[in-house]
Amino acid sequence: LRKVVTFIGHFVIISILTLLTQIGGLVWLASLVLVSAAKKAFRTKRFILFLALYLTFTFILIPVTAPLGGREKIQNNEKVGYHTFFTVLCNRNYVTPALQQTLQATGSAFQKRYPGIKIVYLDACFPFLDRFPLLPHLSHNDGNKVDISFVYSNKEGELTNKKPSVSGYGAFETDNNSTITQTELCKSQGYFQYDFTKYLTLGIVNRELKFEAKTTAYLIQLLAAHKNTGKLFIEPHLKTRLKASNTKIRFHGCQAVRHDDHLHLQL
Ligand SMILES: [Zn+2]
Repeated sequence: LRKVVTFIGHFVIISILTLLTQIGGLVWLASLVLVSAAKKAFRTKRFILFLALYLTFTFILIPVTAPLGGREKIQNNEKVGYHTFFTVLCNRNYVTPALQQTLQATGSAFQKRYPGIKIVYLDACFPFLDRFPLLPHLSHNDGNKVDISFVYSNKEGELTNKKPSVSGYGAFETDNNSTITQTELCKSQGYFQYDFTKYLTLGIVNRELKFEAKTTAYLIQLLAAHKNTGKLFIEPHLKTRLKASNTKIRFHGCQAVRHDDHLHLQL
């Protein structure tokens, strides 16, 4: 029975690591093979080996091998940056060269009007394999999709690169003008997952931040105007409020999750 429990335990760990980081499950499997249970203090040794291998893959090997399959790490600089290091640590920051170019070029244009304010990305795609989804985003499976944060200002009214929630998701700009909101509409049609990102905030840490409609609208307008951009998803009430009229800006439908906490860009 102990063997069965151990087997199930490893299976669960491998599944979680694979869903979270794509390569973590394989690295765990490699550590199991390389450090046998017969060795003294094998659990500690195994875990240290796992960490060493995982970090080597994530920060040294994958960045140079992913381009062979047509994806690259999003470049972090003064124009474009991640919201949480977790995204980078879990290999959730890979895109196609075309999407990279879109982000960097738009970041340059955005900086011209708002110096110091970056395009802040959330989940993008994994480094390898088309059709391998980056959960919970089913469509983030081909290197051509990335989620981007809105722009906020701090207590002093200055623009900031900070965001309200730890994960970057789940801090909604609610719709106060409709008699029935899109969320209520979708949920009434049985799409119960529509606002489940409210459980994925990992904590609201910067409650004082204020949504900057004008700056966010400008960012959306720049992203939509880029030639590579296919579609941008935001919640319909925000599209109206931001006067975002470009035809590439769409409603994603009730089968997705609400997009009034971030925007989704795809080529
Ligand atoms: Zn998305």
